Amino acid sequence: MYNENAYALGANRSCIRDLFEYGRSRAAVVGPENVYDYSLGNPSIPAPKAVEQAIRDILEDTDSLLIHGYTSAVGDAALRQAIADDLNARYAAGVEAEDLFIGCGAAPELTAVFRALTVPGAEILAIAPYFPEYKPFVEEAGAAFRVVPADVPGFQIRLEAVEEMLTENTAAIIVNSPNNPSGTVYTAQTLKALAELLGRKSREYGHPIYIVSDEPYRELAYDGVQVPFLPLIYPNTVVCYSYSKSLSLPGERIGYIYVPKAAQDSKALYAAIAGAARAMGHVCAPSLLQKVVARCAHLRPDLHSYDRNRKALYEELTAMGYEMAKPDGAFYLFIKAPGGDANAFSERAKQKDLLLVPGDGFGCPGYFRICYCVSYAMIQKSLPVFRELIAEYM
Ligand code: PLP
Repeated sequence: MYNENAYALGANRSCIRDLFEYGRSRAAVVGPENVYDYSLGNPSIPAPKAVEQAIRDILEDTDSLLIHGYTSAVGDAALRQAIADDLNARYAAGVEAEDLFIGCGAAPELTAVFRALTVPGAEILAIAPYFPEYKPFVEEAGAAFRVVPADVPGFQIRLEAVEEMLTENTAAIIVNSPNNPSGTVYTAQTLKALAELLGRKSREYGHPIYIVSDEPYRELAYDGVQVPFLPLIYPNTVVCYSYSKSLSLPGERIGYIYVPKAAQDSKALYAAIAGAARAMGHVCAPSLLQKVVARCAHLRPDLHSYDRNRKALYEELTAMGYEMAKPDGAFYLFIKAPGGDANAFSERAKQKDLLLVPGDGFGCPGYFRICYCVSYAMIQKSLPVFRELIAEYM
């Protein structure tokens, strides 16, 4: 006897993982230099040197029992203070260490927050296109997962669609900016309008509708584009942050949840998040990494190579006739599939060893995603294949 839902999740790999595994098997046959794998969002810039130095210093200077021992479940006090200091220096946000819960990256943080917000009948909204894992996270929390249709072609937020979908059961809406998969950054104007709508509806329903702000890509914005800090726009925001992409540490599993003091029921909500994490077996985030981030919370990534990739792909592909929203952040392009059927297009691309993720899993059929944290050389080599493909549709 086993849980059928859990079985279905474990037995069916995600489309992205499938493509990635396929790419590996093709690389073994035709050579890795002949496979153009744009499937997976694994950072391609190394962690900052200061991170590696911090790891060495900590291993040398600190008692090993202290390095590897359990920390407090909510996280090491020095780390929480370092993050609060960094957020206050950047946003003057009034963050206190006690408002922060140190988690193991955005994925388990989101899961804990969804569980903390779910009451019987609860609904949680995501805005298409969205990170596919939201669906199992929300549904396994026991809430209904509802999708706000995409705002094509600019990929901001269709506020009238949000308004239509809000009900008295809406517990939260997930906001992910810079966005995976569209690469767009929601403007301050879009977010203020969303805040106004949610505030009005919260008053009407007599309970807060929280924003869950999923922020692994906060630091990845280009051309001076500012990513608004949502708690300053809408206090009923819970931030799920991750160092996976900002410090290129996705395998190390470290991030934080921020529950602003100004959020309604903030103390109880924080406790519910800690409780939900506990019920999922959270003990503490990796202790060594907590010490590392305590020294490195102020670091920002060097975006030079992502930016070069972004510009090259955006300029070359639009010149070929591909259509996409301007990619201001993260490391993704979300492109309209020539011919309209992204699955058929991706399948054709796959025959040429070009691996592109169809948009259906992101709640946005007809588009495909490119993840450009790859080598510049691979991009250059893949361009003729993109050209060949679009020519087949013209
Ligand atoms: N949210 C989004 C939008 C993501 O793209 C990812 C990972 O790619 C995650 C959450 C999970 O990130 P983490 O590695 O911090 O769990």
